[in-house]
Amino acid sequence: MNVVIVGAGLSGLIAARELRSAGHSVVVLDKGRGVGGRLATRRIGEAVFDHGAQFFTVRDPRFQRIVDEWLDRDVVRVWCHGFGSEQDGYPRYVGRHGMTSIAKHLATDIDVRTSSLVFSVLPAPEGGWVTTLDTGDTHHSDAVILTAPIPQSFGFAFTAGVEFPEELRTIDYERTLGLLAVLDGSSAVPAPGALQNPDDVFSFIGDNHAKGVSPVPAVTFHANPAWSAAHWDTPHDEAKALLIAAASPYLGGTRITASDFKRWRFATPQRNWPERHWANVAGTMVVAGDAFAGPRVEGAVLSGLSAADAVQSAND
Ligand SMILES: Cc1cc2nc3c(=O)[nH]c(=O)nc-3n(C[C@H](O)[C@H](O)[C@H](O)COP(=O)(O)OP(=O)(O)OC[C@H]3O[C@@H](n4cnc5c(N)ncnc54)[C@H](O)[C@@H]3O)c2cc1C
Repeated sequence: MNVVIVGAGLSGLIAARELRSAGHSVVVLDKGRGVGGRLATRRIGEAVFDHGAQFFTVRDPRFQRIVDEWLDRDVVRVWCHGFGSEQDGYPRYVGRHGMTSIAKHLATDIDVRTSSLVFSVLPAPEGGWVTTLDTGDTHHSDAVILTAPIPQSFGFAFTAGVEFPEELRTIDYERTLGLLAVLDGSSAVPAPGALQNPDDVFSFIGDNHAKGVSPVPAVTFHANPAWSAAHWDTPHDEAKALLIAAASPYLGGTRITASDFKRWRFATPQRNWPERHWANVAGTMVVAGDAFAGPRVEGAVLSGLSAADAVQSAND
């Protein structure tokens, strides 16, 4: 089969690898400049930040086998077994060089086209699908897997004449406002370099230096969903200044020497579809992502695996 996958986040890349290893021809299209989607690692000068997902955990045996292979290949490592008093013994894994390194590893030898904004996915007159980019370039395929956040995938399905169930169509996402701060010394974030829900503003504070991702002090501050929603329309400079003020207790008396402000409109699905993917009747348009198998790295992987299985069953 020829399969087009929209999205080079975890779901799309995992599905691509599965299908490729089963002998199918796969093209992955992503509007971003790089791969990974919400697995994002950014630089400010020498400083390196994970500014989307911060770490991941494993519950599912199929995912554990994949993670064991990543450990063998030195793609991921164990950061810690919990934060503060929440030491529960379960490993928190991180990408060896930041979370994006996982996506980069998965994209190896896969035909991934970045900077490729998908504009429409329509039924082809001769059967299958034609996916069109904003440039006008087209890709014909037997099946298509949509892994963008649900409101975006819904747009493609709608114009293709494919109806999503109401419960799926209406899944919305929490927003996250974030601050990336380079410091001139060590932060006050305690070992192993993270705080979860420390106050009314932040849901997570990650010290990328303590975590072993950044060679210099660099801290990621994620505002919680309530704070992010309340300040979503606050002018950029004002919201950034508020986050910098809220970050002050965690700076350990150091100075912020450079910073960036980040907005995730589709950070976390507010609820999940009860199955690991959704497909049209013919099984040739499959929708996947973390809105299906859990709003986290593991959920995205499990949904991508499920989508690949679905496409292959449609072919049988
Ligand atoms: C701030 C934040 C913190 C998080 N922290 C954690 C954490 O600590 N642990 C954890 O397990 N999970 C965490 N998560 C969740 C985790 O990052 C996601 O569950 C997972 O990465 C989702 O993967 P995905 O493939 O489903 O979607 P995505 O990674 O969003 O991939 C979808 C891709 O589709 C692309 N796309 C969208 N529209 C188009 C288009 N029209 N054309 C082409 N491409 C398109 C996007 O560019 C994107 O690359 C966090 C998420 C955020 C935002």
